[in-house]
Amino acid sequence: MDTNVTQLLKTYELKVTPQRMCIVEELMKNGHLSIDELYEKIRERFPSLSLATVYKNIHAMMDKNFIKEVKIPNVKSKFELTKNDHAHIICEKCGKVEDVDVNSLSIIKEVEEKSSYKIDHTDLIFSGICPECLTKES
Ligand SMILES: [Zn+2]
Ligand SMILES: [Zn+2]
Repeated sequence: MDTNVTQLLKTYELKVTPQRMCIVEELMKNGHLSIDELYEKIRERFPSLSLATVYKNIHAMMDKNFIKEVKIPNVKSKFELTKNDHAHIICEKCGKVEDVDVNSLSIIKEVEEKSSYKIDHTDLIFSGICPECLTKES
């Protein structure tokens, strides 16, 4: 048992189960995973686990704000462990999703000025071609 993961789940007042630990470990390893990708990886270790159970666990962890859903247009939602405010970048070739540390504050400010809204949330998603795919192309 990974004591770090156990501790982390407890911090978020989540019951510690081997399945949940597995979900957390896979998200730590892979960053962003869709429910199907996650299910496939978890099934390697828990072959009898149903997709419904994985869903239930994910939602319990989302309720505690431990896991976040990353909604990407035209792509199945990905899930990640909640981190500091960050933007996402998706590769149009291979579909990889990565974090980019950008400060969204200046963008929020600009939108507030232009719209007179009080903005409290933004999801920034950029798309393009990742360095690996760029190398393959040339
Ligand atoms: Zn790529
Ligand atoms: Zn992310």
